[in-house]
Amino acid sequence: MQTPKLALTIPCYNEELCIESTVTRLLEVLDMLIEKGKITRDSYIYLVDDGSADSTWNIIKALHEKYPQRVKGLKFVRNYGNQKALIAGLEGVNRFGCDCVISIDADLQQDELTIENFVDEYVNGSEIVLGIRNDRKTDGFIKKTTALMFYKLMNMLGAKIPVNHSDYRLVSKKALEMMDMYPEKALFLRGFFHELGLKTSVVKFDVKPRFAGNSKFNLKTLMGLALNGITSFSIVPLRIIAGLGFLMATVAFIIGVATVIEKLVFNDSPNGTATMITLLCFFGGLQIFCLGVIGEYIGQVYREVKARPRYIVDKELL
Ligand code: UDP
Ligand code: MG
Repeated sequence: MQTPKLALTIPCYNEELCIESTVTRLLEVLDMLIEKGKITRDSYIYLVDDGSADSTWNIIKALHEKYPQRVKGLKFVRNYGNQKALIAGLEGVNRFGCDCVISIDADLQQDELTIENFVDEYVNGSEIVLGIRNDRKTDGFIKKTTALMFYKLMNMLGAKIPVNHSDYRLVSKKALEMMDMYPEKALFLRGFFHELGLKTSVVKFDVKPRFAGNSKFNLKTLMGLALNGITSFSIVPLRIIAGLGFLMATVAFIIGVATVIEKLVFNDSPNGTATMITLLCFFGGLQIFCLGVIGEYIGQVYREVKARPRYIVDKELL
């Protein structure tokens, strides 16, 4: 196989404290790989500024001026969230050209030295290489538990996504081209690349603490990501609701028959206000919950039907 041209894409949101040292460090890694003859000299970094409110874009501009061939950038008009920034990065490098691309976070929490292993796997024939974290030491208790619950739930619901894989991954040009065939707006990348069914391998890596700045995710954005992941890859929740409704109706029917028999045969009409109220609340709650689940799907359809652009680009530095 020919030496591949590698692109690195980095979503950046208010990363003024990180971005310069991250780019410098990644350029060193690229140099090391070029020295070893593993990637071509025109390999590059593509930064996506997800509508930062700080000086991130100015730093990206300065880096581009310093390394015009090696550092490229794209700026959104506003903040669209990390998934959209990743998608824009993948689409950007696909337009610009590369043989494979690795997405990595701006805070270098993912071990950048494993980039070499990703490239090795690609050269050995993998179209997709997933970074799988060795453990979750750096995460707090809540994030750890919710993440685990999310993977369990997703897999139970039939959307198979790899456990402990964040968005640190390599994808080949072939996989990038397949992205064009999926016009859906709320593309959930982890599920998407799994669904393609291309030859996939994994690289294990260690997670480091963030070296500067704070996590840009909060419970709300993580919940949004999880819900989008589920509603865009599985309709099992809808089926569960239908099943639940059927089950409840059957139970109600049996109870109804039993009551009639009791009345007719034993002349014993049951009373029990407490039971009634409990059941009423239970079924009321269940119905609203089920409506909520259906609502999530309707929301997904609503967003897709409007067919608004995934993101709007403000500026691009090539
Ligand atoms: N990010 C982004 N848009 C957002 C939130 C985050 O582009 O709205 C980027 C962020 O700059 C970083 C990556 O997504 O490069 C991961 O974010 P972070 O490190 O804050 O997440 P965590 O490591 O806590 O999961
Ligand atoms: Mg991080």
